[in-house]
Parts: sequence; structure tokens; C-alpha cells
Amino acid sequence: MSIRDRYAPSPTGLQHIGSVRTALFNYLFARSRGGKFVLRLEDTDQSRCEEQFVKNLYDTFAWLGFYWDEGPDLGGPAAPYVQSKRKEIYRKYALELIEKDQAYYCFCSAGRLDTIRQEREAAHSSQTGYDRHCRTIPQEEARHRADGGESCTIRLKIPLGEQGSPVTHYHDLLLGDIEWNNGDVNPDPVLLKSDGFPTYHLANVVDDHLMGITHVLRAQEWLSSTPLHVIMYRAFGWEHPEFCHLPMVMGTDGKKLSKRHGATSIDEFRNQGYLSEALVNYVALLGASYEEGKDVYSLGELAERFSLDKLNKAPAIFDYKKLEWYNGVYIRMKSDGELAELCLPYAVKAGLFGGPGREPDQEQRQTFKRAMPLIRERLVYLTEAASKLGYLFSEPALPPADEFIPKKTDLATATDLLRQVRDLVKPLAEAESDAEAEARIKDYAETNGIKPGDLLMPLRVAITGTRVSPPLFGSLRILGAEQALARTDRALTFLSSQP
Ligand code: GLU
Ligand code: ZN
Repeated sequence: MSIRDRYAPSPTGLQHIGSVRTALFNYLFARSRGGKFVLRLEDTDQSRCEEQFVKNLYDTFAWLGFYWDEGPDLGGPAAPYVQSKRKEIYRKYALELIEKDQAYYCFCSAGRLDTIRQEREAAHSSQTGYDRHCRTIPQEEARHRADGGESCTIRLKIPLGEQGSPVTHYHDLLLGDIEWNNGDVNPDPVLLKSDGFPTYHLANVVDDHLMGITHVLRAQEWLSSTPLHVIMYRAFGWEHPEFCHLPMVMGTDGKKLSKRHGATSIDEFRNQGYLSEALVNYVALLGASYEEGKDVYSLGELAERFSLDKLNKAPAIFDYKKLEWYNGVYIRMKSDGELAELCLPYAVKAGLFGGPGREPDQEQRQTFKRAMPLIRERLVYLTEAASKLGYLFSEPALPPADEFIPKKTDLATATDLLRQVRDLVKPLAEAESDAEAEARIKDYAETNGIKPGDLLMPLRVAITGTRVSPPLFGSLRILGAEQALARTDRALTFLSSQP
């Protein structure tokens, strides 16, 4: 059987960890089985859907780097893939269910439904949902009223037994056999609203059928809708797709992942300087386990390994620390050129090249790339390049004189050390490698009975403006002898002028 699965978001919010996990698992499942992965926009709730969220959906997946095979933007054999363009189809199928006596017209006004709710509340009744008031209207009469233009909805007739209510069974690929007492299923939910729009349930079932979807992998929050969907498939006389409800995603406190735990929208992670590969790799492991002792997987490796028996029943815990670790891992896999390209937009935004939004010129671009080896090992987020490398693009402010003074020494000593090391600045800046620079410093320090660290500390502060900076030798080589000397002299003048 050729597999077809889908991601069916409603564009009512930003793409977030949970929704992307659903999309990714569907993508991986289709890839692992040589099937097709479909995107369908479920935008029938027009009051909640917004164009900006559709744009966010496309932006997010272009960035994440895995994509559907068929969808609104790509087209495909089951087009259109946008539910608001399929209104007529749903209407036709809702009427078909009436023909089959599996659905009926409901003429209840919003006011009447409201009254029932209020009465139940007042009586502290546990009953919820529709009271099936119109279920017994004779079909002919109902059709006559509907044809006459009376405002109405179409409701599904949940099968109820003469005595006791029947049970709906189905098999979930992860959770196993599931049974629902029909009496506990949403009582005769609306399929087609009075404005002609379908509800989620009708559109979802009709589309999964018409689009040939074989597997529905979706979030567990939809579990309670599934018996209803199964009932609907049977009412149509269709076979239902396989269902698989994915494990929940929780915060470390065991509560459903939400804003309280930290970032959840993909945009936020992106703005914080995460790599898409890190995010994809981490999200792929939310609720699935592959090999012992292996954490890092490319998309291709994941697609090769994915199968439903790798899914866990237990909820997945979203661990921000682990994601951070992945980010470092992927940062370190990048070449200088790649890493510079990735960091660049953040550095431009932060104003590294002469003010927020200013693009680098050719020389700055070159410098930026050359500086990547200085920060790669300690970079956690792509955003950090700007703050770590500021001193390479503009002269840093001079810190207070105290900063220049090595431990257990004084201002005079620090000034003297800097004066001595000044003579080494040119050879250090022109050294071929760190090793060569290091040998020079060691040599000088030994000959003169100075600790190498004491020699380098004032120089580091003179060059970078701080005691904690990226590696000094590399920085000197990037700045060049002339600039490095100018900064050393500036610091010397400053220190000498101290009272
Ligand atoms: N439109 C639903 C959502 O937003 C789809 C659920 C499903 O996959 O059936 O999640
Ligand atoms: Zn009614």
C-alpha cells in the first residue's frame, strides 16, 4: 500500500513545537515508507484564521528545511488543499449523509441552545451538548423546511441503541484498541453550519477520504474527536485511515508545554539564534527513541530510521537545556563560511557593522568570516557573535585602569608589562599560527622571569577591552599589527595618565 499522510494545521496561531513535531513525524513517516506527505490548510473557522499565520507557516517550513509533496503552494492531484475553497464539496457530502439517514437538519436557534445550556447550569446537570431535539423531525418535513429557506444546520446522527448505547471501537497504532460508548460521544455534533461552512469534523473526514490519506498521525488532543470521526466514516460507508495519536509534549514540570515554560513558537527559537537543524533533530526525538547512545541525526538519517514502533507512549519532556546542547553541536559542525552566513543576519540586526541594520562591506564580511574560529567552540546561539566580536569592528571603550592589573601586582607593574609586551605585538600579529605566537610569548616570559599570563593580561584588555574575550592571538592576527599597536599605545597613554 502506498502511504499518504498529512499535516492539517488551522492557521489560527504561530507554528510551535507541538505542531511542527506533528508535521515532522508525518514527513518522516511518509519518507520512511516511500509515501507522500500532504499539507492541507484547515481554515474553515474564518473568524480565527489569519493570513499572517499562513505566511508564518510557509516561512517556518522553508526555514526548517523539510517540506510537503503536495499542498496549496505546490498543487497536486487532490487540489485544492485549502478547505475554504472546498465548501461545495462538504455541502454535497453533508447532504449525502442526510440521504443515508445518518444526519439530519436542525432548526434550533442559537437562543434555544443557549437556553438549554443555562437551564442545565441552573440545575447543575452534568449533561452537555445538544439535546437531539430535531433528530425526530420526519425527514420529509425537515427537507421541506430547509428547502423553504429556514435557517438550519446539519447534524450527525450518532448511532444510539434501543437499550443501552452501542460502542465504537477502533485501533490506535500507538495506544492500541480504543472503545467509546456512543453515549459519551459529542451528542449529534454539527457538520454543516447555517452559513454553509463545514465544521472541523466534517471537513477533516471528507478531505482525509478524498485525499486518499492512509495514516493520520496527530496530537493527542484530537483523541476524543476520533470516535466521532470513525462513526462518520462508517456512516459514509468508507474505510477510515489508520490513526496514531502522538505522545504529548510536556515541560520539565510534567505540565503540557506552554509559554510558561519558555519559547514555544518556532519564530522565537529562530530569533534567539537556534539552527534549524538543531531544532529539527531535537523535535524528532520528542516522543520517539532510536539507537542507544546516538543523539545527532540528520533529516536523512531520521527518515531512514523512522517507524511507528519507535514512538513512545509516555509523554515527551521538552528540555530547553538539551536543545541548547544540540545547537552547540550543530554550530561546531559548520565551516567558517557557513557559520558566518548563519550569524550574519543577527550581527547586522545588532549593529555590528556600524549601526543596526547596516550590512557589512567586503572587508568587514571577510573579517567576520575569519573570526569564526575564535568563537565557534563557545557559541551557544547564533545571536552571540555580535556581542563577542564587537572589538574587531570598532575600538572598544577603555575599561577602568584596574582591569589591566594582573593579580597581586599594581598599576605601575601593569603599565610596565604592557610596555614590554608592546614590542611583541607586531611579531604576534604576523605569526603564522597560535603555536608560533605562544612560543614567542613563552620565550620572552622565561627570559625575563615573568609569568606568561601576566604578560598577556594587560594586552588582552588593551586589544579587546575586557579580560574575558575570544582568543587573543587569533584576534591580533585579524586586527593586524597596525591596529593592534594603536590600541596598545592608546592603553599605555591611558595608564600613564592615571594618578
Ligand atoms: N486542523 C486540526 C489542527 O489544527 C487538524 C487536526 C488533525 O490532524 O486532524 O490541528
Ligand atoms: Zn435542533
